[in-house]
Amino acid sequence: MKKEHKSALHISSGTDNPGSFDPKLLQKFRRKKHSIEEFVKGILEGDSVLLSQAITLIESNRESDQIEAEKIVAACLEHKNNSIRIGITGSPGVGKSTFIESFGKMLISKGLKVAVLAIDPSSQLSHGSILGDKTRMLELSTNPAAFVRPSPAGDALGGVARKTRETVFLCEAAGYDVIIIETVGVGQSETAVHSMVDFFLLLLLPNAGDELQGIKRGVVEMADLIAVNKSDGPALAQAKLAKAQYQNALHLFPPKNGGWIPSAELCSGLSGMGIESIWEKVEAYRKHTQENNYWQSHRAEQAKYWMHESILQHLKDMFYHHAKIKALLPEIEQALFANKISSFKAAKLLLDKFIE
Ligand code: GDP
Repeated sequence: MKKEHKSALHISSGTDNPGSFDPKLLQKFRRKKHSIEEFVKGILEGDSVLLSQAITLIESNRESDQIEAEKIVAACLEHKNNSIRIGITGSPGVGKSTFIESFGKMLISKGLKVAVLAIDPSSQLSHGSILGDKTRMLELSTNPAAFVRPSPAGDALGGVARKTRETVFLCEAAGYDVIIIETVGVGQSETAVHSMVDFFLLLLLPNAGDELQGIKRGVVEMADLIAVNKSDGPALAQAKLAKAQYQNALHLFPPKNGGWIPSAELCSGLSGMGIESIWEKVEAYRKHTQENNYWQSHRAEQAKYWMHESILQHLKDMFYHHAKIKALLPEIEQALFANKISSFKAAKLLLDKFIE
C-alpha cells in the first residue's frame, strides 16, 4: 500500500473548528467598532465609555486610528463649551492628587462636571510614572460627574502634550465644565501644560526657603496662583510664614499680560481648608480676563502656538520618513563621526536632498 506521507512531520488535516465557542458570545467580547458619527453622538451625550474609547484612538500611533481620531476631534471642536482649563503642578509628594480629589469633589457639589487629565513625562520610562495613575483619586474616578484619565505613555513629551490637548476638546464636547491638567515638575512638562490651560496653579509646601530653591524660576513666573498646600496641624504657623515669602517672591516678577496679579493662598487638600477660596480665585480670574478680553486672546495665541507645533512635527516626520533621507542619513552620519564634514554642512546636504 502506498503511503501518503513519508515523513513523520506531516501536517494532519485536523478537525473542523471546534464548536465550543458560541460565535455570538465571541462577538460580544470583541470591541464593537463604532462609526465616527456614533462616537461624536455618544461623546456629546456624555457617554464616558465612548469618550474613553475615542481618547484611546487619539493616543494610538496607528495611522488608521489617527485618521479616525482626527475626524472625531474636528467634529467635537464645533461643540466646545464654556469650560475652564486649569493646570496644576508641583513636585512629587506635594499633595496634587489629594488636592485634586478634594477640589474636584467641591466642584461637583456645585453641580459642575470635572475632567482630570495628566501629562507625566516620567511615564515614558519603562519604570512607570511618578503620577502613579490608576490608584490615585479613587473617590473622584468613581464619581459619575468626574472623568479621570491617566497620562498617555510611551511618547515624547511633544506627542503626549498634543494628545492631551486634543483630549481636552473631547472632554469639553462631552460637557465637562472644569478640565484639570495635572503635571509633575519634570523636564518641560509645565511649559507644555501652560500652553494649553487658562489658569496655572502651583502647589508648594510650607517650607518656603527650601522649596523656592528647588523650584524653577520659570514655573513660579507661570503661576496665576501659588497654593501653600498641607497648611494643617503643626505646619500651619510655618505655612503662614511661607505664604508671606512666596507673596514677596511673586512681586519680583513683571506684571502678567492679562493684568492679573498672582497671589499666594493657604490650603490643605486633606482637610479641605482653603479649597473653596482657591476656586473663588479661579472664578475671579475668569471674570477679570474675560472682561478685558485677555482670556480670548490667550486662547487664540495657544491655538496659533499649537498650529506651528503641528507644522514642525509634520515636517520633521516627513523629513525623517523620506526614502532618500533614510538612505543617505547613515552615510552622512559616518562622515560626521569621521570629522570629514561639519554638522551644519551635513544638515544642509540632507535638507538639499529633501527639497530636491
Ligand atoms: P502627589 O504626589 O503630589 O500627588 O501627592 P499625594 O496627594 O499623593 O500626597 C502625598 C502624601 O502627602 C500622602 O501621604 C498624603 O496623605 C499627604 N498629603 C496630601 N495632602 C495633604 C495635606 O493637605 N495635608 C497633609 N498633612 N498631608 C497631605
